[in-house]
Amino acid sequence: MTSEIIEVRCPNCGRVEIEAQEIRLCVEMSKRAGWQPTSTRAFYGLACPECDEYFTREADAFTAELLMRAHVWIFSWYPSAEFVEPRPEGPPLRLDDLIDLHFELEGMFA
Ligand SMILES: [Zn+2]
Repeated sequence: MTSEIIEVRCPNCGRVEIEAQEIRLCVEMSKRAGWQPTSTRAFYGLACPECDEYFTREADAFTAELLMRAHVWIFSWYPSAEFVEPRPEGPPLRLDDLIDLHFELEGMFA
């Protein structure tokens, strides 16, 4: 089976052509969607056939779909729960907050 030729933009060489099988597409899998691919986060990487430098790019849903249809190598990415859980509301934790907590805990066990 012959691989499709895809045109990409290398940061050093500009437009270059590369076989689809030389491209790696990493697609986020969503637990909420039953561990199906999401269309929100994907990136692809390849070594430029001209300068051999490896580079990666984010792939929007359209680009990811095109790359999948071209039969690039696809890898699944399962983000950790901390990465996808909702962010708590309120201001970020500061050093003063930790020091206050330390003194409160110290008082509880004194
Ligand atoms: Zn290059």
